[in-house]
Amino acid sequence: MTHLLRCLACGQIFPDTYLLSCPNGCNSLLRAEYSAKHITIHPIPGIFKYKDWLPVHDTLTTKAEPVCYKSSHLARVMGLSRLWIVFSGYWPEKSALVLSGSFKEFEAFPTVQRMKECVSGVIQVASAGNTGRAFAEVSAQTGQPVIIVIPQSAHDRIWTTRPAPHVLLITISGDYTDAINLGNKICSIPGICPEGGAKNVARRDGMGTVMLAGTVNIGHLPDLYVQAVGSGTGGIAAYEASLRLIEDGRFGTKMPRLLLFQNEPFIPLVRAWQEKRQDVRDEDMPDAKRAIAQVFSDVLTNRTPPYGIAGGLFDALVATDGIMGGVTTSEAEEAGKIFLSQEGIDLDPAAAVCVAGLLKSVQSGIINPDETVLLNITGGGYESGKRDLSRYEKEPDIIATKDTPFEIISLKIKEWIILYV
Ligand SMILES: *Cc1c(COP(=O)(O)O)cnc(C)c1O
Ligand SMILES: [Zn+2]
Repeated sequence: MTHLLRCLACGQIFPDTYLLSCPNGCNSLLRAEYSAKHITIHPIPGIFKYKDWLPVHDTLTTKAEPVCYKSSHLARVMGLSRLWIVFSGYWPEKSALVLSGSFKEFEAFPTVQRMKECVSGVIQVASAGNTGRAFAEVSAQTGQPVIIVIPQSAHDRIWTTRPAPHVLLITISGDYTDAINLGNKICSIPGICPEGGAKNVARRDGMGTVMLAGTVNIGHLPDLYVQAVGSGTGGIAAYEASLRLIEDGRFGTKMPRLLLFQNEPFIPLVRAWQEKRQDVRDEDMPDAKRAIAQVFSDVLTNRTPPYGIAGGLFDALVATDGIMGGVTTSEAEEAGKIFLSQEGIDLDPAAAVCVAGLLKSVQSGIINPDETVLLNITGGGYESGKRDLSRYEKEPDIIATKDTPFEIISLKIKEWIILYV
């Protein structure tokens, strides 16, 4: 056994049968406990070099992994003496080869592999962008089947760098919530499993490789971990990876603080945490539809984040003495330009939000300029990707509206799934 799963509410331990929640019905996340307490970095390209702390037995072939380097230019502009950047996108000059362009690919590879090892079935993902594209790319690279449900308006975001014949792409009229609802219904078809979001240990520990890459390169845990969040899963993942690194014993004992940002005007997590409340309320997202339509980075607009659940973002913020803040769109746009001019690569809008947040935190004195800062650039390099890589735009296999009877969708899916299950 490489790992077991522990419920963070009742404490019970379970073997990994692709569980996404506690069989006792606890409102909690499960956490993977690995038999390897000291991590060995395996000499292979891609995130599976961290397989000791991924919930998989075998590895998939990929060159995608977080790349860490010490910043000099941006660090000088910001007035930080120990700024380390983890770049999770496409930047071949730095050996950053995340073909779909964001750190969602670190979640998708181990998730697909875990599912393949635990159950026979096909994985279903509902996404408005980066997650769907990441799973499509993993399917294109590995041949694993994936069902992706997206709002019709997000159609142009699903492309791959190789043909993706084993992706079943479904578009639905409406927004992200409509895609999630249809996705949930689809998971009632035998042989189809939800990817589970934050509840999937493979997604969290895949994102946790950012903290692993940062710490191994720096030589010790950073004082601060900085990221823009929508669900906050990346923050939870960074915290859990830090727990393992502390237990490892070679990287220091001080838990890094989480410093997390959202894009105004949609900042429910910031509001809840500022009042140190354990629940996100409707009043934290007034006029949500309009607010979501206004942000620069819509991957940061999750309405049902894993915040109050045991082991969720609230617990991670408490344990790390975390800080959250909001960033305006104009601040983010400005920060994106600074990053491009200083470090030389274009950013995903979410990463620009993160850079703006860090800049504000230094200016307001929240950060001591000599602290070791790990800045997670969660996506970027789309311009280089456009230049270097082939791009296959995925045509939808099923085009649904809210009026399409589910039986019709279900029938088409059943015809397709026979090929795989
Ligand atoms: C999804 C996403 C985020 C937010 O991630 P969470 O940790 O799930 O909140 C940040 N940046 C990019 C580029 C993303 O795609
Ligand atoms: Zn439990």
